[in-house]
Amino acid sequence: MSHLIHRNLRQQPPLAAGAGGMYLYDRDGKAYLDASGGAAVSSLGHAHPHVLAAMHRQTDALAYAHSGFFSSAPAEALAARLAADAPGDLDRVYLVSGGSEAIETALKLARQYAVESGQGERGVFIARRQSYHGNTLGALALGGNEWRRRPFAPLLIDVPHVAPCYEYRDRAPGQSRADYTAALLAELEDAILAAGPDRVIGFCAETVVGATAGAVPPTPGYFKGVRALCDKYGMLLIIDEVMCGMGRTGSLYAIEQEGVVPDLVALGKGLGAGYQPIGAVLARGHVVARLREGSGAFQHGHTYMAHPVAAAAALAVQEVIAGEHLVDAAALRGASLMSRLREAFGAHPHVGDIRGRGLLLGIELVRERDGKEPFAPERRLHAAVKECAMARGLMVYPMGGTIDGRRGDHILLAPPFIASEADLSEIVSRLADALDDAVAAVTR
Ligand code: PLP
Repeated sequence: MSHLIHRNLRQQPPLAAGAGGMYLYDRDGKAYLDASGGAAVSSLGHAHPHVLAAMHRQTDALAYAHSGFFSSAPAEALAARLAADAPGDLDRVYLVSGGSEAIETALKLARQYAVESGQGERGVFIARRQSYHGNTLGALALGGNEWRRRPFAPLLIDVPHVAPCYEYRDRAPGQSRADYTAALLAELEDAILAAGPDRVIGFCAETVVGATAGAVPPTPGYFKGVRALCDKYGMLLIIDEVMCGMGRTGSLYAIEQEGVVPDLVALGKGLGAGYQPIGAVLARGHVVARLREGSGAFQHGHTYMAHPVAAAAALAVQEVIAGEHLVDAAALRGASLMSRLREAFGAHPHVGDIRGRGLLLGIELVRERDGKEPFAPERRLHAAVKECAMARGLMVYPMGGTIDGRRGDHILLAPPFIASEADLSEIVSRLADALDDAVAAVTR
């Protein structure tokens, strides 16, 4: 028996022994085509030589220096690069070790900003149902995934949740997109007024909802409306781009496509592309200036923050993304994968919706298309899809609870940006077989 506590305590996953490009290999030599970048992490694929070389160089020069004593060249260079490429004046950077830490950091930075602005009565965050912001307690409280939250409910801060932007399920027949968007914004404004407009610190959302709802993009104008409400009520707009950021949706930041500048942006996953554990918060200059001119310190910190090797890896990842034009590749390959999926699954009896942006794509599974009825949750179709795909040497990222945390299943696809057309074709063909296997297994 393994001494390692795995995610599933009854199953031992295969032992990964190597990786290169689009493939991972287990210790028996079986190859797995990585169509999800793990969980939308490995945007450059595996074993990219430029990133490996940068990590080796940095490990030899300086593996660690505590950020309470020193800064380091790679951390400074990464921050400068992120600041230069970020939208608007998002030019201050806090480096941490992953997405949940980035969200916790954003929450505390936002709260301290309120306190130091003389608005200590602001103590509430508003977020959305069917969102995921991480597994630490603050991030879990913010998230709207009922299944993940339930066992820990007594430990979670109170966060009012409003509806996500989930057209496939929630836009009524005959309702225009503009009317649907206006209704969502009205619901958000009602939530702000109910909480007390001078008590709300900020609103947090993923630009494109990732793991919990399966690549759900916003409707046009939604985030412009959200930004306007945040400005109206003096709230901060906190955007979670842990999954959808760093090129995945065809722009470096997904929020660029919405034409708004948030106050804080959380990054993770694709920032280090799996080569090192790293996350970040980008903040607008005025937020950090308020603390600098006030108490002079951000009351936060982690032992491994701004880790030199992690920063060197993330910097090398950014260099590869720019040098190999991978943001454009994500847009182009994303369009190609979308049309391949539509061709393969557009008339599939158990595929209700195919959606997403760039190389963050989702397929929502249904028992029958017309009524959008999901499979019974007890059948665990999503788990069967994962198992059948792995058996066929394909990694995809399926999840259950798509609709409300309990009902619904989807498959998330988030392949590396280096995927070729031949890789995309192979992904779709293996997925079609795996889906047939999985449906057969749960309806047997
Ligand atoms: N935010 C989003 C949108 C995510 O998808 C995730 C992870 O899936 C997180 C935050 C948490 O990141 P991590 O797992 O690195 O803590």
